[in-house]
Amino acid sequence: MVKDKLAFIQNQIPGTVTLVAVSKTQTVSAIQDAYDFGQRVFGENKVQELADKYTLLPKDIKWHVIGHLQTNKVKYIAPFVTLIHSVDSLKLLQEINKQALNNERIIDCLLQFHIAQEETKFGLSIEEAQEFLDSIDFALLKNVRIVGIMGMASFTSDSNQVRGEFKTLKSIYDQLKSDYFSAENSFKEISMGMSGDFQLAIEEGSTIVRVGSSIFN
Ligand SMILES: *Cc1c(COP(=O)(O)O)cnc(C)c1O
Repeated sequence: MVKDKLAFIQNQIPGTVTLVAVSKTQTVSAIQDAYDFGQRVFGENKVQELADKYTLLPKDIKWHVIGHLQTNKVKYIAPFVTLIHSVDSLKLLQEINKQALNNERIIDCLLQFHIAQEETKFGLSIEEAQEFLDSIDFALLKNVRIVGIMGMASFTSDSNQVRGEFKTLKSIYDQLKSDYFSAENSFKEISMGMSGDFQLAIEEGSTIVRVGSSIFN
């Protein structure tokens, strides 16, 4: 039962950490079950699937985009998305800004960093992030707000490896906070931790965990 698994996960997460129930590939009725049990924050990684679920499910759900986002798809989610975890280029951020403006909104975003060993995972390096945070193009964006950072650890059973990657993400956060966002109280989020590693992530300073299979499968 979704609600028993959800309760089991919620009990392991401190009240200060946000649980994103990752509902990609799950049915509307499974999501409704989690909703009925009180869950309000859900994460999806495909724009079309997210847009469909948005129309079918209660409107007080906070929808997070957690996967790679193509610029040409931003317009479909801009009217309602709560948080985009996966900003990995200035070009994408500029498009989010444009669509946010069209919808008369300010959209909250996280910068995604590459911390895993695998080559295939998306994300910025610290140097790339510094370059775009220093740019005039970034300073001109008034309809996006960077509220923190996100990363995915390597797929490995080596918990020392995973812990080290979470420590790296935390240190990137601390550096950006002091260099760029020390005056912004809203820059406070570190999205790290999934079903297999969220306890470790919380020990290392996570403020948002993204848990899917442990809740729904
Ligand atoms: C699927 C996914 C998750 C959830 O993974 P589980 O192992 O099912 O908890 C978290 N973050 C991202 C970016 C994902 O794509």
